[in-house]
Amino acid sequence: MAKWQSVVRGAVLGLLVGSAALAQDAPAASGEPEPQLAWLGTGGVTGVYFPVGIAVCRLVNQHRRETGVRCAAKQTAGSVENASGLRDGTLQFAMVQSDVQAAAVAGSGAFAGKGPDTGLRAVMSLYPEALTLVVRTDAGVRGVEDLAGKRVALGQAGSGTRVLADAVLAALGWSAASFAATPEIPPENLPRALCSGEVDGFVYAVGNPARVIQEATTSCDARLVSIAGPAIDALIASKRYFVAATIPGGLYRGTAAPIETIGVGATLLTEADVPDATVALLVSSVFDDLDTLRGLDPVLTGVEPEAMTTEGLTAPLHPAAERYYREHGWLH
Ligand code: GLU
Repeated sequence: MAKWQSVVRGAVLGLLVGSAALAQDAPAASGEPEPQLAWLGTGGVTGVYFPVGIAVCRLVNQHRRETGVRCAAKQTAGSVENASGLRDGTLQFAMVQSDVQAAAVAGSGAFAGKGPDTGLRAVMSLYPEALTLVVRTDAGVRGVEDLAGKRVALGQAGSGTRVLADAVLAALGWSAASFAATPEIPPENLPRALCSGEVDGFVYAVGNPARVIQEATTSCDARLVSIAGPAIDALIASKRYFVAATIPGGLYRGTAAPIETIGVGATLLTEADVPDATVALLVSSVFDDLDTLRGLDPVLTGVEPEAMTTEGLTAPLHPAAERYYREHGWLH
């Protein structure tokens, strides 16, 4: 898994979000390839999936004149909605947490009603995400155990945050009833909800630095709290799609010391019926221009091919991705 990066480059995020507006398709001149739209499911606009999705699409769209393929990043509720969108064909690519990926493959958890998604295919792994717990400084929360009886936003339906938060609650022997309230709040409203006192804290499964955490910790006195202890260690050890995550100290205002928590991998997935040519285009666009990708968002600075082609992937690789990785000697 890639190393945590400690560089805050909010300006880069702003720039990428600003470029989200997509130009209309120009009419195809004779001899040009048929226009084809590839949707890439992401998350909320203040998260990291969204700017990363825009970064990946930007690399794909550099070849649009020759290929006709336009990749477009779509705002969504997160991993569970993304996995469902892949399955029903509304998304061709999507960012999905490694734990949610495993559940979609198995047809368990959030996907129990639908059964296994046998068509789900891995494209690549990108960067680690940490279950990030942010509390108002005056909330009296020093450790995760102090959250009992508080008002805490645990992630919206359709998000991977909620899936990971539920796994942590189960490991601690807690339920939603352990809290005074667990309102569902979209990520972009979390800083306001925290600073207005609507909630005492929130969790977000996200790569760091993330805009929403930067906003929350600069809008009022707030800090990050570790999610650690024997029950969490046992949870991390129980599944290969969980990792121990450390958010470096000094990344956010109010949090000088490193924060220990549970993490997952942010992975990019597709479906078996997405054409080889489309998947090959995305894979070659990313790997032929990896240095550019590394510069497009702080969470991508440490991406390395060997980890990207294996870490956190439960679904089989799409054949077009597998072929490319074998040709480049990254799979053995
Ligand atoms: N991991 C989060 C989820 O699946 C999304 C994080 C993000 O948008 O960066 O819900």
